[in-house]
Amino acid sequence: MPELPEVETIARKLRNTVVGKRVSAVFLSGKSLRAPVPGHFASALTDRTIRRVHRMGKYLILEMEPKAFWLIHLGMSGRLFYFSQPATKPEHTHAVIQFEGGGELQYRDPRRFGLLDIQEASTLFALNQVQRLGKDPLGTGFDAGWLWPELLHTRRDLKAFLLDQSRVAGVGNIYACESLFRARLHPARRCNTVSRKEAVALARAVRHVLRHAVAHRGTTFSDFTDSDGEPGEHQDFLHVFQREGEKCHRCRARIQRLRQGNRSTYFCPRCQNRAPGRMKKKG
Ligand SMILES: [Zn+2]
Repeated sequence: MPELPEVETIARKLRNTVVGKRVSAVFLSGKSLRAPVPGHFASALTDRTIRRVHRMGKYLILEMEPKAFWLIHLGMSGRLFYFSQPATKPEHTHAVIQFEGGGELQYRDPRRFGLLDIQEASTLFALNQVQRLGKDPLGTGFDAGWLWPELLHTRRDLKAFLLDQSRVAGVGNIYACESLFRARLHPARRCNTVSRKEAVALARAVRHVLRHAVAHRGTTFSDFTDSDGEPGEHQDFLHVFQREGEKCHRCRARIQRLRQGNRSTYFCPRCQNRAPGRMKKKG
């Protein structure tokens, strides 16, 4: 599933390929995604020019002129492909956006949990989807000064907190597991037992893990490649995710898996101590 680093990688590619381009035609498969593509989507996009590409959490938001915002969320399996000339449209291609002077963007999504929408609004922050988003770890102010009070207000476990898009925007299963490993915090630890020092470690870990992943163009799993079709490299750097039974890179203990909220969490039972306030010094 695409997470923040993958979406950031795509945003960068889009900035280099489609900014300044004017939409000449839009073709839709007619199939519903997470929600139906709005009836006016194609006509609203046509004849508008892409001015800027924003990433907010896991949303790609293309600022259009005349003023409108084109929202893309890749859901579980959405992918974007840019072609400089008209290209074949394989199965699961749900939208083709053609540009004046050639070039087209294809949205493919086998599982159809993605989102395509266009909204007129005066600013990005007037969009409902953006208002509902929590703090972006790569934006300003994602530090312990913000994080620690947030944690103290909830008894949820740390993993659930990190996955809640209305608290932290853009972190999914992979980077939640990796950030908790880096911060040496147990994923089932209750948020309100975290010390200030641990909150400092967690804020730093989340930012470090995401920045590192962006630098390596995200993580590739079977249903994801970036918009050039180039695989990301970040999976080579994962310490716990999908490594159940393998040795911890730090302490050689076996990585374990547990179920949390219907999803698998991977962690090192030795490095990620469960007891509040105690941190292993090993490594
Ligand atoms: Zn370990």
